[in-house]
Amino acid sequence: MNDFDFSAIVQNAKDVVIVTEASPIDAPGPKIIYVNDAFTETTGYSAAEVIGETPRIFQKEGTDKEELSKIRDALEKKEPVRVTLRNFSKTGKEYWVDISILPLRDSEGEVTHFASIQRDITEYKKLEQDLQILCRTDPLTTAANRRAFNEILSQEFSRFKRSQKEYALIMIDLDHFKSINDQHGHSVGDQVLIEVTERCKDNIRVHDILARLGGEEFCILLPYTESKQAKKVAERLREKIEIKPIIVDGLRVKVTISVGISLVSTSDEDGHQAMERADQKLFQAKESGRNQICA
Ligand code: GH3
Ligand code: MG
Ligand code: MG
Repeated sequence: MNDFDFSAIVQNAKDVVIVTEASPIDAPGPKIIYVNDAFTETTGYSAAEVIGETPRIFQKEGTDKEELSKIRDALEKKEPVRVTLRNFSKTGKEYWVDISILPLRDSEGEVTHFASIQRDITEYKKLEQDLQILCRTDPLTTAANRRAFNEILSQEFSRFKRSQKEYALIMIDLDHFKSINDQHGHSVGDQVLIEVTERCKDNIRVHDILARLGGEEFCILLPYTESKQAKKVAERLREKIEIKPIIVDGLRVKVTISVGISLVSTSDEDGHQAMERADQKLFQAKESGRNQICA
């Protein structure tokens, strides 16, 4: 055996180390008998405050039940386990940890304790969540992007198949947008897209989903909505955009939209069929002179 102090390595390690007794697994749960310095740094609890307590004090409503049951399973079988858990510090702040739990055996081979080694992955989790939002958001307007919209549409379609509660789609395309770009420049065009998004957001319900599908084309999914209501919403949007020119750097830009509306139908095989119908209606609105709604 080397003659350096192994316990100092654990005490000073950057990862959290907690040692608990092996039982009871049921409430109140196994008692903590040891924590290292990194534990206090991450959780805000001193060693004295938690010795004799159970690690369950770090968990709350938001802690993943599936991961907790994996831990319970492993403790019962006295096997090692690796999980990711959202825990809570002394002040109630959430932190994420990648946890490895190892059974510790006595000289007879009996499991008497468990060691839990926990790496704080809060920063990594935040980054992951930011990336997920970024992947689903149109960077110019901050509306949902096509990818996010397709996902939501397919969920709504499944919900419709189960509940028969219909939803409506409002497809919007800006009229003669190319000439706005040509007259005033691309960056004015960009500001127009941002303002159109704002006006749409201000005139729909919180659970309606607005997405920019690409270019100057938007789609709104209105859950639990019939044709009459959808037309009312579309007419309000058309008016709100037409009525007040969009001001960009003191420039007054007149904008109108054409709109196609469709409802999901029991004969649809997927969410995209209603999108195609809305698209055809939008085409009709364009053909009939623009700045109008077809349903
Ligand atoms: P219509 O009334 O038939 O819809 O005519 P339109 O000019 O709006 O249609 P068209 O499809 O010919 O033009 C769309 C234009 O949108 C062309 C493209 O340059 C512009 N566009 C697409 N994406 C963006 C963007 O992100 N920013 C800006 N400023 N323009 C964009
Ligand atoms: Mg257009
Ligand atoms: Mg277009």
